[in-house]
Amino acid sequence: MRRCRRRLGRGKCAGLLMLALMAVAPVLLQAVERLNFSPGFNLFSRAQDVEMGRKASGEVNGKLPLVRDSQVLRYVNDLGKRLATFAPNQSNGVEYSWTFNVVNSSDINAFALPGGFIYVNRGAIEAAQNEAQIAGVIAHEEGHVVMRHGTHQASEIMLAQAPLSILGGLLGQSSSLAGQLAQLGIGFGVNSILLRNSRGAESQADEVGTYILYQAGYDPYGMAQFFEIIQKKYPQRTIQFLSDHPNPGNRVRNVDQEIPRLGPKKDWKTGSPEFEAVKRRLQSMPPPPKPAPPK
Ligand SMILES: [Zn+2]
Repeated sequence: MRRCRRRLGRGKCAGLLMLALMAVAPVLLQAVERLNFSPGFNLFSRAQDVEMGRKASGEVNGKLPLVRDSQVLRYVNDLGKRLATFAPNQSNGVEYSWTFNVVNSSDINAFALPGGFIYVNRGAIEAAQNEAQIAGVIAHEEGHVVMRHGTHQASEIMLAQAPLSILGGLLGQSSSLAGQLAQLGIGFGVNSILLRNSRGAESQADEVGTYILYQAGYDPYGMAQFFEIIQKKYPQRTIQFLSDHPNPGNRVRNVDQEIPRLGPKKDWKTGSPEFEAVKRRLQSMPPPPKPAPPK
């Protein structure tokens, strides 16, 4: 800098510095955008994700006890839909059907069906310490939806079972999609393969979830924080969660590394009076029904 001033004079030197900074700025912006949000191999269309999710959600709604309280549902749907506006990889003219339900269970769990049908357990809301944490859980599930992990998983199974030429014909006729999937042994409902996530899918859902939190103005550490806390504090109530969402390992470290890449630190939102009201409301409800013993 001093050498520059000596050669060119103070004014020109400052100009050069400005030019240099302007050249660097796009690089910094690119660094923020360089996260890998491309979904894996998939034989289905987005419209088929929604169709399949709607069918699966019909089955799930008939099997699981749901919280019907309108204040709780309005809160979860408002929060989920607001977060979904920041989810990457949406477009192509097909809107995901963002629908949020609360399962009346004290297990700490959440899951997403293809196409945007998301279920959060009452136990997860009650265990969250603030809104950023429950927003993190929902954002993680939205990550599974927009990265299309359910149908990616189904695609891999189908590919292993039938040659592509046959699958092409099958998938073209979406009206009987469910029946044909059933023929290949891919069922819907609570134990569906659509809900089994690999560790790779988990990492990606973490990455997308953290990104959504950041973009929506929430404390982006909220999601990883929640997963850490529940495993330590409630090991018995997180068994299903860990089976649906296996810990990819280094979850906290990965998220810690991602956050500085998302942009500068901001005045992040953590709590809200609405969250506290809904949590209190759930805590004051009668205890959830005992789960039916496995048949
Ligand atoms: Zn997950």
